[in-house]
Amino acid sequence: MKARYSVIVPMFNEEEVIKHTYERLRAVMDECGDTYELVFVNDGSRDRTAEIIQEISSRDTHVKLIDFSRNFGHQVAITAGMDYAVGEAVVVIDADLQDPPEVILQMIAKWKEGYEVVYAKRLKRHGETLFKKVTAKLFYRLLSSMTSVEIPTDTGDFRLIDRKVCDVLRGLKEKNRYVRGLVSWVGFRQTMVEYVREERFAGETKYPLKKMIRFALDGITSFSHKPLKIASYVGFFLSFSSFIYLFFVLFQKLFTSWTIPGWASVVGINLLFNGIVLMLLGVIGEYIGRIYDESKDRPLYIVRETKGYPTGEAGQFQ
Ligand code: UDP
Ligand code: MG
Repeated sequence: MKARYSVIVPMFNEEEVIKHTYERLRAVMDECGDTYELVFVNDGSRDRTAEIIQEISSRDTHVKLIDFSRNFGHQVAITAGMDYAVGEAVVVIDADLQDPPEVILQMIAKWKEGYEVVYAKRLKRHGETLFKKVTAKLFYRLLSSMTSVEIPTDTGDFRLIDRKVCDVLRGLKEKNRYVRGLVSWVGFRQTMVEYVREERFAGETKYPLKKMIRFALDGITSFSHKPLKIASYVGFFLSFSSFIYLFFVLFQKLFTSWTIPGWASVVGINLLFNGIVLMLLGVIGEYIGRIYDESKDRPLYIVRETKGYPTGEAGQFQ
């Protein structure tokens, strides 16, 4: 089926909200008066999310379901959605209604003016913990101070991209996906709309601290070599200062008599330096690990089944 607009919805354990999300999206997309499809990507949910969408897709031909074989992560789910979406304009939106679907209409208006990427900038964030807000703010500032690609601050993955941009993104085969960075990196005519991020409609965040850290590391390592540079600067600085210190120690030994109280400082400096060296090795390890991931050349995701595609049609995307 040809559709002018595709809306991609990544979902991980969203059974409490997904029906409402579908209804709100449907109302908005019906209003825009053109053909559309809703591409729901089930990222290995362990609840009834997939069944709910499957049931809806048997009634509503706008609804497609891509069902992953396990949890591959939010960014990969978005990537899969882009692989399957057929629309001339493709919108990515969270499943939890934190991104109000009504904003899509403003994005479409901008797209019709000729913009190829319309991202949504969060003016405010409701219903999120102070910790999340502070760490998110810090992370976006840190990232932008480290990269040469201008990645807009305070924007999530809620955005509209033109077919051209979608095709370019599909051609970028890197495994550590930081989609919002990639979208900035490709360029094109970009603009933004502003919105207030709502509270989660139901359920709780699917980004616990561990996933947040992973996400932040992916963002920084895919778009910046700065940590490696900082590692070598720190290494250089440390060897230089220990060299100076060595002279000082030699001087003490040869020309003075205060050599005994040295024990504490030797142990202290040893501990400090070993800690720093291990940390720097860790930084290098993060990059090498990613090089290793890229070189394995495994597929980004595995699809168990698709729903809402006429027989044989879905296979063409893989
Ligand atoms: N999500 C996903 N896979 C994951 C984690 C999250 O597809 O491993 C989806 C989730 O269902 C939601 C979106 O990504 O649609 C954003 O997640 P969430 O709302 O939990 O993040 P937050 O808004 O708290 O940053
Ligand atoms: Mg959310």
